[in-house]
Amino acid sequence: MSSVSESLNVFGEYYNIINGERQRTTKTRNGIDPATGQSLPEVPVATENDVYNTVEAAKAAFKIWPLVSWADRRRAILAYLTEIEGLADDLARLLTLEQGKPLIFAKMEITSALDFSRVLAKMELEEETIYSDPDRKTVIRYTPLGVAVAIVPWNFPIQLALTKIVPALVTGNPIILKPSPFTPYCGLKIVELAQKFFPKGVLQFLSGDDNLGPWLTAHPDVAKISFTGSSFTGKKVMESASKTLKRVTLELGGNDPANIAAVAPKIVEFSFVNSGQVCVAIKRIYVHEDIYEPFLDAMVAYIKTLSIGDGLETGNFFGPVQNLQQFTHVKRFFADIENEKLTVAVGGKNEVRPGYFITPTIIDRPPDNSRIATMEPFGPIVPVMQWKDEEDVIARANSTSMGLGASVWSSSPENASRIARQLQAGSVWVNTHLQLNPSAPFGGHKESGIGHELGLGSLKSYCNIQSLFLIKNPI
Ligand code: NAD
Repeated sequence: MSSVSESLNVFGEYYNIINGERQRTTKTRNGIDPATGQSLPEVPVATENDVYNTVEAAKAAFKIWPLVSWADRRRAILAYLTEIEGLADDLARLLTLEQGKPLIFAKMEITSALDFSRVLAKMELEEETIYSDPDRKTVIRYTPLGVAVAIVPWNFPIQLALTKIVPALVTGNPIILKPSPFTPYCGLKIVELAQKFFPKGVLQFLSGDDNLGPWLTAHPDVAKISFTGSSFTGKKVMESASKTLKRVTLELGGNDPANIAAVAPKIVEFSFVNSGQVCVAIKRIYVHEDIYEPFLDAMVAYIKTLSIGDGLETGNFFGPVQNLQQFTHVKRFFADIENEKLTVAVGGKNEVRPGYFITPTIIDRPPDNSRIATMEPFGPIVPVMQWKDEEDVIARANSTSMGLGASVWSSSPENASRIARQLQAGSVWVNTHLQLNPSAPFGGHKESGIGHELGLGSLKSYCNIQSLFLIKNPI
């Protein structure tokens, strides 16, 4: 372990961060390294009283943080991001240990999180004068909401945390980060690192068990919940938030279709990256009947070149899935193979070995109403389906309650663009997938979410709008 790791206490003790202080809890729990099944260090289990204290500290911070100039808030955030960058190698290792993704992808997550965060930190919500004459002026301005809570899942713990933290802080809101109980370690360390850059209570961290999310969403003094996770939990969050009309941003699940020409390896990578545990990964693949067989063969051949193993060993493309619950969930799709008499193009059986490893699998032409074609496995198993008629394939692609991302792959840009414009999804790509831009809104249609992250709109989502009517002489 490097000296930097030691000073960060990466493998040492982990505390909650409340009001600028490291806080222990009486009860603790531990995460599991998904590659080995071994326990990771103990992490705190926050109590309801910790939630109370954290929200009180955030309320106190809300009295001062909005008064700090936008330029100074931005300066503090950029300095904080530089600090994280200096520790990127240690954090990447910690991310692989707790999340399972190969080290190269852990490093990519951190680089991308920092790049996106810098763009967001440099954005500004200017006041807009919509009317002005010598006697009166009407100005639209944005004011911070108050105490914000970021609830993140386990697939991209750093990227998803920072893309909530930065827009909240730059717009003047204190924010409390709640990680997934499966991946608390990196989140905890990035909030610990933040303390020297921000006044106490501005950025806090609570690790806990399954009670913690509901305590936070129910707290009457929390003004905003930014949630990323499953559609199932998102609905609960919205229900709880509605009691006090908290603002919510919900980034939920996806079941993304792709429609392909001759790009089998890319489709494989965009389907299987992070072992399929990407909200916006390709999860249903429709291939035109004229190229179906050779295309499927090319996908299978490419998958066979990708190795599976511990993320800390170099050269592996597939790490384990992140936790036992997810492992069990994904294995249920393997049970369907026999129960529903599905055809397997590659994979289909899991070796018994330590850790939560799943053999990458393609199901060849399952029925459109099968579980694998309608549900989000969130693991390395995808269905490939055949199509003939354009109208029909668009209808099939759209025939889901999800609408996060979709891609169309074709050598004809006109045809691809015509199809892309008819897909019901928040992000649609032609001849690529998963390419995000920090200035472009990212969010879901239908049950894939409410509101969006990234772009100027993500800053606005942490603000109230105020119309300010300035009149010189009383009227
Ligand atoms: P999840 O919904 O189980 O949990 C997400 C977070 O919510 C965790 O921190 C969890 O502790 C917390 N939580 C659980 N119950 C809660 C409650 N009642 N109130 C408040 N918080 C609660 O999701 P997961 O299994 O961690 O993540 C996988 C899901 O996330 C997939 O469906 C995936 O598609 C989705 N996802 C979406 C995006 C996106 O941007 N749209 C990005 C990544 C992942």
